[in-house]
Amino acid sequence: MGIKVLKTCTELQSHVRKLKSANNTIGMVPTMGALHAGHLSLVKYAIEVTDETIVTIFVNPTQFAEGEDLDKYPKTFEADLEKLAYLNVPTVFAPSNDEMYPPGCSTRIVPADVSRPLEGEFRPTHFGGVVTIVLKLLNLTGADKAFFGQKDFQQVMVVKQMVADLNLATEIVACPIVRESDGLALSSRNVYLSKDERVRSLALRKTLGHFKKMISLGERDAQALMSEMQQMLIDNGVSSIDYAVVANPNSLQAYDQIEFPVVALIAARVGATRLIDNCLIESG
Ligand code: AMP
Repeated sequence: MGIKVLKTCTELQSHVRKLKSANNTIGMVPTMGALHAGHLSLVKYAIEVTDETIVTIFVNPTQFAEGEDLDKYPKTFEADLEKLAYLNVPTVFAPSNDEMYPPGCSTRIVPADVSRPLEGEFRPTHFGGVVTIVLKLLNLTGADKAFFGQKDFQQVMVVKQMVADLNLATEIVACPIVRESDGLALSSRNVYLSKDERVRSLALRKTLGHFKKMISLGERDAQALMSEMQQMLIDNGVSSIDYAVVANPNSLQAYDQIEFPVVALIAARVGATRLIDNCLIESG
């Protein structure tokens, strides 16, 4: 059977009703399209652990601020469908902007406190848009499980907190970061990188590798680690750094002295392209 592409909320809701009445568990993978192996790893996992996978493709305007890349965000819809069909994904939900935000749709969700630092500082309206669309998609799909990538580390925390705070029944499943063979975390935005920038983009994974090594050698001074990370990013050619921090992965609070678990999180620009990456270390 071919892949079913649903465009309206009504179609999706009636499809979900049928699935639920046949006692299927539903897995949702929300994406903005331009699918790569990172997205597909979430899809494969969803297929493995739920009965029916629904992949959503929607470039959500409310999570982009003025001046960000909403208009030029890569769109590869036909290729996306081919990749999903190859994995035997039964259903894709690909609504229009008007379908998700019809005239008069003005309710917005306020994201939890954990959205404030890091990404929240540099993209203050971003997580409000994320939690609003994720809640809408969870309501529409009635998903038992929803799958997110650890690459967007803070996003997973913000979504999990929303699910807890609003008593939603969906389980949020975090999946590991998928990387290119040279270590660059896959991202739809990597297509913006010129050849030279692609080389310089390795600064992020080199810096995270260095962080890991310093921890394994016994460095526990958070300030020293963060200074080294900043320096390494600059030495390896990033254009600017939004943040390069080490923090408690359960709260995003800074450590003075590193304890475990610990996460290093980076957001930096290479040319005009903003890249994020992180490295979680569970124990010393
Ligand atoms: P996006 O289309 O960028 O909104 O991403 C959709 C989902 O795919 C999010 O949960 C991302 O965290 C996840 N994702 C993006 N890149 C990767 C990657 N390299 N590895 C794992 N998951 C990813």
